[in-house]
Amino acid sequence: MRAMVFERAGTPLREAELEQPVPGPGEVRLRVRGCGVCRTDLHIVDGELAEPKLPLVLGHQIVATVAERGPDAKRFEPDELVGVPWLGWTCGRCRYCRSGRENLCDNARFTGYTIDGGYAQETVADERFCFRLPDGYPGLQAAPLLCAGLIGYRSLRLAGDAERLGLYGFGAAAHIICQVARAQGRRVFAFTRPGDASAEAFARSLGAEWAGSSSEHPPEPLDAAIIFAPAGELVPAALASVAKGGNVVCAGIHMSDIPSFPYELLWEERLVRSVANLTREDAEEFMAVAQQVPLRTEVEVFPLAAADEALARLRSGAVNGAVALAVD
Ligand SMILES: [Zn+2]
Ligand SMILES: [Zn+2]
Repeated sequence: MRAMVFERAGTPLREAELEQPVPGPGEVRLRVRGCGVCRTDLHIVDGELAEPKLPLVLGHQIVATVAERGPDAKRFEPDELVGVPWLGWTCGRCRYCRSGRENLCDNARFTGYTIDGGYAQETVADERFCFRLPDGYPGLQAAPLLCAGLIGYRSLRLAGDAERLGLYGFGAAAHIICQVARAQGRRVFAFTRPGDASAEAFARSLGAEWAGSSSEHPPEPLDAAIIFAPAGELVPAALASVAKGGNVVCAGIHMSDIPSFPYELLWEERLVRSVANLTREDAEEFMAVAQQVPLRTEVEVFPLAAADEALARLRSGAVNGAVALAVD
């Protein structure tokens, strides 16, 4: 089977013919239809995340059909359409797993990072960590739900019951979470890169009542802000924009250093926290939301062999919505 293989930071992916993967007990072999491209993939190819499996097949927003069931795998029928997210396996035994926090599992494995992912014609996955996809997302419309949507949704939940919500960085995650937040009756304020009129217009088209530059203050204080962009300087900027008691949630897996800032930005019970990974419960809950709302996802599609081009396109910041690879 054909795959795009990551071998070393700073080098292009290599198109390779790999052995067909064999599903172990409780696993399914999947025929990949497509796979979303995530900013985390950029952090991996840039060498910003420690110790990826090498060589590695990237990709953790996999839309696929079940090709074969391994021993004891019976959750899905052959040919059933499933999604595979970032969380690929947890131990079920550590203190985090035992307390409903499997996103923090000490022994977790991650799709397209510590186990092979979806930049390939086929992959295998533990069936317990695969999900049925919501109806109404044809083609690769569901791909960005699997990380941008899912981890964005966890971030939204951790932002609390904020009525006035700021979203910093209006990419794949924000374009989905803006719609979820609106459906929940929240007011959305979108912060984009300075001068990015196209992103501002995109945010307004999805229900943001205000869109402006991340260097601006919103027209009124926010109750919470979620930072999707990997820029540490947005943390003090967001703290300066939230009201007393406001939450600032950092949603990314990697961020540049946060500059020092005066304590008064944090004072009055403002809170800064990060979001790590997802639990299966998050996924089930979010897929139900995606079914119910329904969400409109914008996806720019590239062929599998153009994975480097797709990564470069995501890096450019010029995408309104998400990027995905189509696998034939
Ligand atoms: Zn991701
Ligand atoms: Zn664990």
